[in-house]
This record gives sequence, structure tokens and C-alpha cells, in this order.
Amino acid sequence: MEPPNLPGSIGRRMDLDVTQEQQLVRDTVREFAREKIAPIAEVLDRESRFPYELVAELGELGLMGLPLPEEYGGAGGDTVSYALAIEELTRIDSSVAITVAAHTSLGTMPIYLFGTDEQKREWLPDLASGRKLAAFGLTEPGAGSDAGNALTTGELRDGSWIVNGSKMFITNAGTDITWGVTLTARTGEDEISNIVVPNGTPGYEISAPMKKLGWKASDTRELSFRDCAVPEGNLLGPRGQGFQQFLEILDGGRISVAAMGVGLAQGAYDLAYAYAQEREQFGKPISRFQAVQFKLADMATEIEAGRALTIKAAWLKDQERPFAREAAMAKLYTGELSNRAANWALQIHGGYGFMDEYAISRLYRDQKILEIGEGTNEVQRMVIAKHLGL
Ligand SMILES: Cc1cc2nc3c(=O)[nH]c(=O)nc-3n(C[C@H](O)[C@H](O)[C@H](O)COP(=O)(O)OP(=O)(O)OC[C@H]3O[C@@H](n4cnc5c(N)ncnc54)[C@H](O)[C@@H]3O)c2cc1C
Repeated sequence: MEPPNLPGSIGRRMDLDVTQEQQLVRDTVREFAREKIAPIAEVLDRESRFPYELVAELGELGLMGLPLPEEYGGAGGDTVSYALAIEELTRIDSSVAITVAAHTSLGTMPIYLFGTDEQKREWLPDLASGRKLAAFGLTEPGAGSDAGNALTTGELRDGSWIVNGSKMFITNAGTDITWGVTLTARTGEDEISNIVVPNGTPGYEISAPMKKLGWKASDTRELSFRDCAVPEGNLLGPRGQGFQQFLEILDGGRISVAAMGVGLAQGAYDLAYAYAQEREQFGKPISRFQAVQFKLADMATEIEAGRALTIKAAWLKDQERPFAREAAMAKLYTGELSNRAANWALQIHGGYGFMDEYAISRLYRDQKILEIGEGTNEVQRMVIAKHLGL
């Protein structure tokens, strides 16, 4: 495997500190998550209630368009700041974190990266401010890991794209403030393009919210399109570029899901660390038992490693250097790390951890999807193997 730095760059630029700006973002989100999200996370989860009030407040803080340039209403932050923000949100609650991450990386980014200047000026300000939410529809009932095998079609007829087909498990697609979905559609023989379908378009039907193991307060829907007509101008980027575009979107999205893995592991560690000091058995706090200490020591070590991998992928992206391999590695590693951390943290809680009133039970349920969404662990290994030349 090639060393990760460009030849000649080793030792020239190694700075593991976050900048003042990045620290400000992290501290702001940490405080917001502790003060505003933590007190209501359990009830939102129990009632499977979408967090409209939190989205509005996150919008006011500039966090719904954090990595977008200010000219489009974003906060002009870098990818490292964005990853730190997503980590801090997930540390407290995954449903809120995925709402922000899917809106930003999957919903808004395709418009920013591939939209025309006119499309960006028209659509981005509402999205970057969080007044509206965006979704990205790639997965279909028959095309998950094999996303290129999508069957949804887009046919250009009399100046309109006529969309037919269905999409599965789409985040943020059906909230009261959802603006629309960018979907991948087959627009010709061996040709995939991205088309924007606004909510409310005739022929576009959105299912009731799907019932899930975790991420219960986030919005997940099945979408169907029957002779759904949108203007020709709703094509995103050049016709036929949809496959390349969605691969690029997934590369970037993996950084935010990796940040979720770090945040979930950190949140599980925080809960287990505190519980281990309080809970006494055999006449002393269970934190005094080496078996418990070793679990916490392993978690702390792996969290450091996962965070370093994630921040490195984000930093490479900010340097406009290739980052796809590191993003897949970070997503894979932190997905598995968060699994171990949630499991160990619940084990440290004993039977209490199995009860709904203990936050660790929610983190345990919220963890599993981090090994499935935006490419399963197996798909990440396939991507990494490809980057290794295998
Ligand atoms: C809560 C939630 C939110 C989501 N949000 C979105 C969204 O906003 N937009 C969107 O487009 N999608 C979204 N998804 C879909 C998600 O990205 C897919 O579920 C994921 O890519 C896996 O696809 P699948 O579920 O069809 O599983 P499958 O592809 O059917 O995989 C089943 C199993 O087979 C394995 N497998 C498949 N192919 C191979 C292979 N070649 N080699 C080895 N193993 C293989 C997989 O790793 C997995 O273990 C969401 C999913 C969930 C559950």
C-alpha cells in the first residue's frame, strides 16, 4: 500500500490540532446537543417524532448548511468542522445527527456540486438555512448495494422528465418541510442521470414513515413515482453522469457516517464511564474491577483511532486531495468500532442498560445502521480492496 502522503510532503505539514474556527464549531454543537437535544432525545425516540424544533434551531446556528459557501446561505465551514459537528450531535442523539447529515451530504451536496448557477441560486438558500430539507433517492427495493442496477426511469417527453419507479428507505423525504428529492433514474440504455423531483409533484407518492429499530425520530420513507412530470431543467448536471455523481456523493457522505460512528462510540463510552463510577457491587464501584477498566480502556483507544481516521479523510477532502479510500476506511472502522463500543457500554450497564430509561439502550439500537447505510461493511471492504488495486 502506498504511504498516504504525497512524495516529499512527509513531515512538512503535520498538524493534529483543530483550528480555532473548528474548535468553535465543536464547542457550539457540543453545548447545543447537551442543552437542547439531550433532554428530549428519549421522548422523540419513544414517540418516533421528527425533531422540527431542533432543526429550526440548528438552522439558526448555521448548522444545516455548514460546509456550503456563504454566497448560497451556508456557513462556509470546512469538512473537518462538519465532521466534528456530526460527531457531537451523534454523541447525544443519532436521529438528529442523521437528519443533519443526510440533508447536508446527500440532499444538498448534489445541488451544490452538480447544479447550474441558476439551480444553486434558486434552491440552495432555503436548504442551507434549514428552512427546507432535501433528500437523495438512490436505493430501490431491488437495488441496494448494487445501486447501479436501479430500475427507476426518466423519459424526456415534450420538455418534461417523466419519472416512473420507486425508491426505498429515503431519509428526510417526507417531512412537512421537505423540499424534494434528487433521484437517480435510467434515462437511456446504460445511462443514469440525476433528476430533482419537488415534493407535491403529481404522481409522486410518499409512504407513511417506516417503523424502524433505531433512528426512530428521523424520517425514512418509501417513494413511488407514476408518470411524474418535472421540467427538463430539473436534470442535475450533464445527462448520463448520474452514476459518477452518486459515487462522488457517497464518498463525501461516508465521512459524515464515519463521524457518526465516532460520535456514537464516544456517547456510549461517556455513559458507561459515568455508570461505572456510580454502580457498586461487591462493596465498590464496578469501575474498580479490571474487567470493566479494560473495556473502557479499549473503547477510549479505538475511539481515538477512529476519530483520527475520520478527521484525516475530512482533511484530505478539504485539501482537495483524493479521499475516497480514507473515507471508506473511516466508515468501515468506525461502523465496527461503534458496534463494539455500544455492546461493551451496555454490558457495563448490566440489566439496567436493557431498560428504555437508560440512554445506552437507545444508542445500542441506533448503532446497527452505521454498518449498513451509505454502503454496508462488505461494500466498504469492496471499495477499499479496489483502491488497493485488488
Ligand atoms: C434508516 C435507513 C436510512 C437510509 N437512507 C437512505 C437515503 O437517504 N437514501 C438512499 O438512497 N438510501 C438510503 N438507505 C439505504 C441504504 O443505503 C441501503 O440499505 C444499503 O445501501 C444496503 O442496501 P440493501 O438494504 O438493499 O442491502 P443489500 O444490498 O440487499 O445487502 C444485503 C446483504 O448482502 C451483502 N452484499 C450485497 N452485495 C454483496 C457483495 N457483492 N459482496 C458481499 N456482500 C454483499 C450486504 O453487505 C448485506 O450484508 C437507508 C437505509 C436505512 C435502513
